[in-house]
Amino acid sequence: MNHASPVSVKMSIKQLSPVSFKALSPASVKSVSPASKYERLESNIGEGTYGKVHKARDTKTGRIVAIKKAKVSAQDRNMGGISFTALREIKLMQAVRHPNVMGCLDVFADGGVIHLVMEFMDSDLKQILEDKSLSIDETHVKCLAQQLLRGVAALHSKWFVHRDITPGNILVSFRSGTAKLGDFGFARTLGHKGRPLTPMCTTMWYRAPELLYGAKFYGQAVDMWSTGCLMAELYLRQALFQGRGEFDMLTKVFEKRGTPNEEVWRDVSALPTFVEFSQHPKVPIATLLPSTCSDFGHAIIDRLLSLDPKTRPTACEALVHDYFASAWPEPCEPHDLPFTWREGGAAAL
Ligand code: ADP
Ligand code: MG
Repeated sequence: MNHASPVSVKMSIKQLSPVSFKALSPASVKSVSPASKYERLESNIGEGTYGKVHKARDTKTGRIVAIKKAKVSAQDRNMGGISFTALREIKLMQAVRHPNVMGCLDVFADGGVIHLVMEFMDSDLKQILEDKSLSIDETHVKCLAQQLLRGVAALHSKWFVHRDITPGNILVSFRSGTAKLGDFGFARTLGHKGRPLTPMCTTMWYRAPELLYGAKFYGQAVDMWSTGCLMAELYLRQALFQGRGEFDMLTKVFEKRGTPNEEVWRDVSALPTFVEFSQHPKVPIATLLPSTCSDFGHAIIDRLLSLDPKTRPTACEALVHDYFASAWPEPCEPHDLPFTWREGGAAAL
């Protein structure tokens, strides 16, 4: 998660399930998993906005794990010293158990810092896409997109919205080819219809147009837009919309997807920061994607990148689209992805 303001990660204590509290009560945490249970192998394998990630070994089982240490912000200190972003991640990981969603193996407090123990993953889709020695064909794109959509569907079925689906937050195992949706620092539950949410979420390039227009009342369709961007990027090997700031992003989106009006997107003009843009026609999606993308690929990405969130398919609907269900070529098996032979795979779980 990269673009969160500390204010936007505020979380009410009431939102935490009793299970979360139990897992975090110092007594139970200490007795179950003291820090000494883990031997550090590599420091700072990843550092994001909210914590450092280390590679470690569970000395009892020999299992290789990743441990995310949650930084405690000044705001957290005022709230009792607990990292609310970490609590948010733990809450989601406990609620959603799915092979394509990053799981929480253990959680413990050490020196007042919450440590989140996860399965160790070799890489993420950002690094995979940047590695030009890897050739990614449509069977691979389908396999990765299907795994991502299964993870998103699992999250959505529990009323969560991820709000930061980006290539860097999709972790992959080299040995199995499994892809898992991770980084839930920005995820939250959809609650009361009347409760506003921050539009300042999701890394800019993957941010849905309603968020770019400042929407405070939005839904899981924001994740479907990000998924559409990600699927396009799997074919293109670079992001489809590369803007700087909200206005530039909207310009880039409308140049490709057409400038919206009330006919294609009802109530768009009522959005908080709505401004009219110069008129651009919608460009045929086939001209935006390389020839490796099939007609069914065009069709599903076109639907996911609908300007009007109401017309985007849900994750479950996308999974039964002909693109996955019947169209040739079929998705490959995860272990047939082009990176499964890579070194380091042997260490992965
Ligand atoms: P942030 O909110 O700081 O972006 P992330 O959960 O995305 O936090 O973690 C930051 C980085 O740490 C990731 O981009 C990735 O490189 C690495 N990382 C996170 N989780 C794992 C994991 N389970 N296995 C291996 N590396 C990980
Ligand atoms: Mg991240």
